[in-house]
Amino acid sequence: MNTGKITLDTLHPSWLPQQPEAAMLRLDKLDAEISGNKWFKLKYNLEAARSEGKTHILTFGGAYSNHIAATAAACRQAGLPCTGIIRGEAPQVLSHTLETALAQGMQLEFVSREAYKNNCATFEERPDTYVIPEGGHNAAGARGCEEILSLFPTGHFTHILCAVGTGTTLAGLINSATPDQTVIGIPVLKGAGYLEAEVKALLYSGKTRHWQLLHDFHGGGYAKVKPALIDFINTFFAETGIPTDIIYTGKLVYAFHELIRQRYFTDNNKVLLIHTGGLQGNLSLPPGVLSL
Ligand SMILES: *Cc1c(COP(=O)(O)O)cnc(C)c1O
Repeated sequence: MNTGKITLDTLHPSWLPQQPEAAMLRLDKLDAEISGNKWFKLKYNLEAARSEGKTHILTFGGAYSNHIAATAAACRQAGLPCTGIIRGEAPQVLSHTLETALAQGMQLEFVSREAYKNNCATFEERPDTYVIPEGGHNAAGARGCEEILSLFPTGHFTHILCAVGTGTTLAGLINSATPDQTVIGIPVLKGAGYLEAEVKALLYSGKTRHWQLLHDFHGGGYAKVKPALIDFINTFFAETGIPTDIIYTGKLVYAFHELIRQRYFTDNNKVLLIHTGGLQGNLSLPPGVLSL
């Protein structure tokens, strides 16, 4: 994968004063299908599968999962057959995400929400199969995300902001940040208090670091999209030319906007926002809602 397409863009939307300085690391430019952070999370998982001689990838997700879309595309590129265990009964009409995964050659198996919750472990038993947990949430996933901050010189940023689902990407960022930097995660799920422990489980011990999760910016919960968010995403695109998605990165920038309004940062802060991609998720909206 050519990480040379990734850029570091200075941000000047109308609501951002001269200070603090802000920039966005555009992981969304990496690839349309293996989007943003998902490629970093898959990198060492696929490498491990190969070195362990596994011939099949198995992973898990919901009908709109960026992780399912990315795994399907990455396995196709790697020439590895893969199966996606999809939460919920098979729908009459497949989501755009699942259609694309299927077209990439991923086998889809639908399981009831109950069975999905209880039985994920039972899928791990075939010896030829390498299992990637839901959302790529494991140490190999976090390790790939350690490479994100070295794509560009980023040591001068005082704060790093990232949207959070499972916290894998955030853990990689925290593990690779300098001791002077503060890493801030914006969970997009409501009531995600369990995340602190999940992130901590992926951190290397014995290093001082500053990080926190700000739980007030989920905007109603996972995949809940209020009209104000749509307006915000459209305006941000009109002002900066940067497309964001309704599930993760739109909420990240919206949170940043709120933090600016609350004067959370001081004038000499330098803020780096990580654009984790996920734009394929916007395709599940009716056409014309977003003007990106
Ligand atoms: C999956 C995803 C995330 C969440 O990443 P985690 O490592 O699970 O926290 C953030 N942004 C986008 C665009 C994603 O697709």
